Amino acid sequence: MNAAMELGGTKTVVAVGGSDGALVEEFRFPTTTPEETLRRAVEWFSEKGTPEAIGIAAFGPVRIDPKAADWGAMQATPKPGWGGFSITATLLQAFPAARIALETDVNAACLAEARIGAAEGLENVAYITIGTGIGAGILCDGRLLHGALHPEFGHIRVPRRKGDDFAGVCPFHGNCLEGMASGPAIEKRWGRPAHELPADHPAWDMEAWYLAHGIIGLLAISPPERVVIGGGVSQAAGLHEKTDALVRELAGGYFPAVNGGPYVVPPKLGQEAGIRGALMLTRL
Ligand code: ADP
Ligand code: ZN
Repeated sequence: MNAAMELGGTKTVVAVGGSDGALVEEFRFPTTTPEETLRRAVEWFSEKGTPEAIGIAAFGPVRIDPKAADWGAMQATPKPGWGGFSITATLLQAFPAARIALETDVNAACLAEARIGAAEGLENVAYITIGTGIGAGILCDGRLLHGALHPEFGHIRVPRRKGDDFAGVCPFHGNCLEGMASGPAIEKRWGRPAHELPADHPAWDMEAWYLAHGIIGLLAISPPERVVIGGGVSQAAGLHEKTDALVRELAGGYFPAVNGGPYVVPPKLGQEAGIRGALMLTRL
């Protein structure tokens, strides 16, 4: 049996299915303490059978390097109780014979969108999520990018837009990309949550502007052929088109879009990208 878990900041998804990403059955529950969350996952898996392989897509920061002594451990996080907790050790204790593969939630979503979603067949893809935070998973030459820990796209510095004096909400950097363009940043800047702002609200030109500057950084460094933007905020009508137009303008013809583009597209797998990517990890 192939099992998968997507561990999110607010909710957790567990599933059984195929290593091609086919979902057979899934179950969602709120993420609480690490002990209780993992206990619920283990109980659900045990009802289905004994997993031979478990793919995990986790929020971060988390140690995804399998060679590291603390592989599978959550790093310092504002989420109470999770810092230092080892996801992999807990699962291996319950299922000692299981093969375990761990990735960031956004890397897993990137893999799924690259294999069967909006970037199907491409080997160089970025998947950005915009929700409570901003993050990106990156597939480069067909491999998910790790680096020293994993990419932290949300925390890159972006130039301030002319006339914008918003301080930003990142507790570490104030006005990094996440500080200026995450869901909480939009809500604080405009006094209303993102999902209540109409499509013609100036918030969306502002949002596209910051996103496009972040994406130019991606195009220059881990060059993706396509950038998939998902997450709650990406559901705003017209945001992908607006961002794509700005990316083209900023690119100045320098980063050729594959087959003429677009660079920026919406996800095809919606809410299922992370868990389906986690299933795919079972055969990596
Ligand atoms: P999380 O990062 O906690 O998983 P989500 O990805 O669900 O969160 O994103 C939550 C954010 O998405 C909130 O800021 C919310 O206002 C925003 N959001 C949800 N639906 C929409 C929508 N249709 N248009 C714009 N923003 C939205
Ligand atoms: Zn930051």
